[in-house]
Amino acid sequence: MSVFTTRIDGEEAMVRFGQKLGTSLSCGVVYLFGELGAGKTTLCRGILRSKGYQGAVKSPTYTLVEPYILEHIDLYHFDLYRLSDPEELEFMGIRDYLLPKNLCVIEWPQMGEGILPEADIEVSISVDGTGRKVRITSFSESGEDVVKQL
Ligand code: ADP
Ligand code: MG
Repeated sequence: MSVFTTRIDGEEAMVRFGQKLGTSLSCGVVYLFGELGAGKTTLCRGILRSKGYQGAVKSPTYTLVEPYILEHIDLYHFDLYRLSDPEELEFMGIRDYLLPKNLCVIEWPQMGEGILPEADIEVSISVDGTGRKVRITSFSESGEDVVKQL
């Protein structure tokens, strides 16, 4: 288990940090923790930029998942804030998203506890004045490599 912490000031810096993080993320499961407005979706936008996606990133709050089928990767951005029961994930066919070659970035993963797989890395974001504190922890060998490259 490796831990990396930093402070990121401003939305643009958060996108750039997400890009850096995304560069070494090729597949697996990323959990994003943090209150509403912490910057989870902003970080995901940076990860998507690193994969060549320049478009808008909308919060999949009501649809639960937004797929990004890109040139080199299938990235699935989840927001489970409105999930009423983890079992709902089974009904939406979560297994089809969780193929080993895909990258799944999951906001509010605690809502899917018991059904979601373990994360390779967990990102926790908290408000710190005008900026954000970001803490990244690895839980697998591939996650360890990602954290070490930050
Ligand atoms: P979440 O998905 O956690 O609810 P968002 O990514 O939608 O949060 O971001 C909420 C707000 O926080 C946005 O206005 C965004 O510009 C701002 N924000 C994101 N990251 C930072 C940062 N590192 N410093 C300052 N503001 C940030
Ligand atoms: Mg969000």
